[in-house]
Amino acid sequence: MLDKVVIANRGEIALRILRACKELGIKTVAVHSEVDRDQVHVKLADESVCIGPNPANESYLNIPAIISAAEITDAVGIHPGYGFLAENANFAEQVEKSGFVFIGPKPETINMMGDKISAIKSMQDAGVPCVPGSDGNLSDDPKKNTKLANKIGYPVIIKAAGGGGGRGMRVVHSDAALINAITITKTEAGNFFGNSEVYMEKFLETPRHVEIQVLADNHGNAIHLGERDCSMQRRHQKVIEESPAPGITEKERNKIGKICAEACKRIGYRGAGTFEFLYENGEFYFIEMNTRVQVEHPVTEMVTGIDIIKEQLRIASGLPLSITQDDVKIKGHAIECRINAEDPKSFLPWPGKIDHYHAPGGPGVRVDSHIYSGYTIPPYYDSMIGKLIAYGNDRDEAIGRMRNALHEIVVDGIRTNVPLQKELMEDKAFQIGGTNIHYLEDKLERLAE
Ligand code: ADP
Repeated sequence: MLDKVVIANRGEIALRILRACKELGIKTVAVHSEVDRDQVHVKLADESVCIGPNPANESYLNIPAIISAAEITDAVGIHPGYGFLAENANFAEQVEKSGFVFIGPKPETINMMGDKISAIKSMQDAGVPCVPGSDGNLSDDPKKNTKLANKIGYPVIIKAAGGGGGRGMRVVHSDAALINAITITKTEAGNFFGNSEVYMEKFLETPRHVEIQVLADNHGNAIHLGERDCSMQRRHQKVIEESPAPGITEKERNKIGKICAEACKRIGYRGAGTFEFLYENGEFYFIEMNTRVQVEHPVTEMVTGIDIIKEQLRIASGLPLSITQDDVKIKGHAIECRINAEDPKSFLPWPGKIDHYHAPGGPGVRVDSHIYSGYTIPPYYDSMIGKLIAYGNDRDEAIGRMRNALHEIVVDGIRTNVPLQKELMEDKAFQIGGTNIHYLEDKLERLAE
């Protein structure tokens, strides 16, 4: 097992990684910006190093500072968490070149998945179902592109190969708008992402977001841990996640899960990863792969009993997975509500001092959060301050426990989205389950009228 790990992140995920390391007897190094010296995980870590001023590009994105911290503390591995440098192939490469273990996939894999065109190509080759679309980069030939769009059938979506975070996409409904849309998306993609390649896909109108969690080691083993439904989104940001996905049968799960695990073997995947799909009319369509641990990993942990971060640490240590596919049993239901420091109506971030914090509890309730009474949320980073996870023997029990937890939690001094989450637990369509990715935005529009 790795002897000492640098946790190159902050907030709830840094604390989550610290807990897993401690359980496994791995020594920990917290690296933090100036304002973050009062974070819980910094106090609990064996050692801590201040890596720079508050802006992320001077601290959490500062590659030389993070690698230096690993050097001066004699660490062996670096865990990137999610966000910041987690999907930066250059970081992974520099970590490895400096003689440390990057707790994640190989840099080549991160690179391949970071370019949507190469990601889709490799997935098609591996037999993963993709959205019908162009064969890679669109040419500049208007006739060819119009013919292709008609073959796929409108509406289509033009997407930048280098896009991310919901940017660099344009939906097109007719021939008249097509050529202009391609030109604009190409120009924007060149400006934003330094890569003007764009491709075309069928635009699915009412899909759900269903994703498959995978784990793969260095010994040729790859397994899937079932699916998560993350359709409750605002501006492509997930708000609620759950596992299993309502209405997905065991047969469907096993079929798509097996395809993903086989694809991992084929591309030589290493570590934890997620295959994201749009799901419509009983069909899965691959959209992208995330080569890191995800915010919503706890719902999978709750229904499988598998600790995904501990598996990541085992894999990075060169050990085989501690479970086989046959050991993975989905039991019960888990729901996660992201808790953000923001105004529940305007969604404006609401940093500031937490005067008083009371955490919920009771059967099946898990709180992954770094906040405490007296903690000041800095304005420099993401507004997520924690996650409430509720587990039940079935979905109704999980909803009931989440409802209790949302009523028990107290975060005084700032505004949070708890009122919105409470409202969603009472929402009839959510209670039935299986709402599509537009549901929340449509509901918010109705509420604003
Ligand atoms: P990003 O990397 O920017 O998050 P994705 O490829 O994951 O981009 O797509 C983000 C979101 O855009 C999806 O969750 C979905 O809401 C929408 N989207 C992307 N491709 C399609 C498509 N072919 N049909 C319908 N919606 C799509």
